[in-house]
Amino acid sequence: MSSKRFLIIAFSILVFCTFSYSTNIIIIAVDTLRADHLGCYGYPRNTSPNIDEFARNATQFNNCYTPVPRTGPAFASMLSSLPPYKHGAKSNGLPIFDNIQLLPHFLKKYGYYSGAFVAIWTLKKKICGLDKGFDDYTEVFNRKMWFGVMSPEGKAPKVNEAAFEWLEQNSRKRFFLWVHYNEPHKPYNYHKKFDRGYNVVFPSFYPKGCSFRKIKKYDTEVGYVDFYIGELIKKIKHLNLYEDSLIIFLADHGEGFGEHNYYGHGQLLYNSTLHIPLIVKLPGNKNLHSVIERKVSLMDVAPTILSQLDYPVPEQMEGENLFESSNKERVFYFETYKGSAQQEKNKMFQIKETPLKYGLLKNNIKLIFKNKYKAYDLAEDKFELNNIYENPDEEMKALSGLLEDYIKKIQEYIEFTEKYLKKKSQLSKEDLEKLRSLGYIKKRE
Ligand SMILES: [Zn+2]
Repeated sequence: MSSKRFLIIAFSILVFCTFSYSTNIIIIAVDTLRADHLGCYGYPRNTSPNIDEFARNATQFNNCYTPVPRTGPAFASMLSSLPPYKHGAKSNGLPIFDNIQLLPHFLKKYGYYSGAFVAIWTLKKKICGLDKGFDDYTEVFNRKMWFGVMSPEGKAPKVNEAAFEWLEQNSRKRFFLWVHYNEPHKPYNYHKKFDRGYNVVFPSFYPKGCSFRKIKKYDTEVGYVDFYIGELIKKIKHLNLYEDSLIIFLADHGEGFGEHNYYGHGQLLYNSTLHIPLIVKLPGNKNLHSVIERKVSLMDVAPTILSQLDYPVPEQMEGENLFESSNKERVFYFETYKGSAQQEKNKMFQIKETPLKYGLLKNNIKLIFKNKYKAYDLAEDKFELNNIYENPDEEMKALSGLLEDYIKKIQEYIEFTEKYLKKKSQLSKEDLEKLRSLGYIKKRE
């Protein structure tokens, strides 16, 4: 074969490989969605027919945890595969450190075009820095009814409208798309159309003291967002992108309805806010339906995407490939920080401030530390009500030793990275007002 002919054939193969087949990646993220409020996770209310249908053709992870129960920090962990103390976006209102690279940066090396659609003020690029590496990063917000004031949230139909247009324009590219829906984040709106007989309550699903009035509204929000996720999946199918895409459905954190006298998310490290749904549809519809009980993390998403595409996982990523069961007994760590109060006073962020609380999960034992230890056996005590830390045995002491090491690591890291953190807050008055309306900043003292 002449060398000219060989070159033509080689070039044709390269062009064929580049343009004829590519695995697109789509993350569908729902803010504040508890796994246990979805039908496929055993919820008795019919909140999620479309998500359940998606799960029937995918792999469902029944025990996925977020490392931090707050929006900006959790999505930063999803995109960086790092815990909050390392990526820097510790609270809503703080951006990632300058030296952090996110998933789209790595995908770009392999020809991926990346787009994000985010629908909450805390994910504005100026606030969290999560636009890094994305080719398109679209902030979707609705206007309020009166005076044309911008709402701190974008509604699901508006998110779909923007994402559909992007999909139509980019469906022939090799792409990574992240679509973020803000329902059912507070304030919960009541959607009559999605109240499917919600006057019947299921008290065995909650410890005493939970608000069924709030839960009912929240559940209609889940039904509402589920409907628009169904529309998104239809659109992906209509564009013939469904079968060959790697599609991941997840949430950033859950929501408290009065468990431990707490409503909302961010402050506590109980499972009502740490346990999240995670459902993965592999390209080519491999593993059509399976359920995995092994504990996994939101930080596993980025390494899984890279591994499934046969790309190397950068060394700094701390998560694991969801489809490669690790032999070691895995330990999951949790941390949570104050809200955005520091910025309200427009002071330099007090980076030396340590997390409000630290947590750890190994096997079925959850350990939480704030001044003192509390421990819960999740196998026996799903509501985490019976502290079993009194008179700790050797095993329990070993666990608290692990958490102590983690706390030390955080302290060392804070000292090491201090140079990155001498920036003044960049939040404007408007940002502060939106963060306040979303419940992240307390009313002025
Ligand atoms: Zn959130």
